[in-house]
Amino acid sequence: MSQMVIGLTGGIGSGKTTVANLFAKYEIDIIDADVVARKVVEPGTIALKAIAEHFGTDFILEDGNLDRSKLRHQVFANPNDKQWLNNLLHPLIRDEMNLQCQQATSPYCLLVAPLLIENGINKTVDKVLVIDVNPETQVNRTTKRDNNTTEQVEKILAAQISREERLKHADFIIDNESSSAIKLAESVEILHRQFLKLAIN
Ligand code: ATP
Repeated sequence: MSQMVIGLTGGIGSGKTTVANLFAKYEIDIIDADVVARKVVEPGTIALKAIAEHFGTDFILEDGNLDRSKLRHQVFANPNDKQWLNNLLHPLIRDEMNLQCQQATSPYCLLVAPLLIENGINKTVDKVLVIDVNPETQVNRTTKRDNNTTEQVEKILAAQISREERLKHADFIIDNESSSAIKLAESVEILHRQFLKLAIN
């Protein structure tokens, strides 16, 4: 029997982690696409070996880990390299996410992926939950949380799909604009109950 998977997405700083942590309180299994993306290039993996062969061993740090920052710069400047890397990693990431979803033991599981729609993962999940805030709030919260400049956050925002486009793919929406912590927890509780019902039917 396959597990019901809820894809959780939202732009940078929209509140994905905050919301996922609230679902985790109901002992819902959370699969994090960012964690999976790091796992598939851990030392000893086929993918890391392929990257070293393709780009050179100077893309591997002394401790054996991938030099992510170097690779990021490389693919940012070279679209062909980006394509090559995506072709290598996306199927591996997808397989690992599927595996973790299948292994989940809670009544449904959450797949948290910032680029759920951009990477077409939305087509492989049962329902899509979008965390929605306006871009100004995204910039404010992200710069407050990290040491990023407004310019850096705006650049990342520009590389993601627009708020309107993302919302078109939503089956469920959490408005995290003016949500107090209590209101957000209430929204999650209501959704959790809905998801439980869906998972049973
Ligand atoms: P990223 O895409 O960068 O990983 P994210 O979508 O996971 O971000 P969070 O880290 O959950 O977003 O939230 C971004 C910041 O906004 C955090 O500092 C969080 O504490 C804060 N935040 C989340 N929800 C609210 C809210 N309703 N009111 C005020 N601050 C909030």
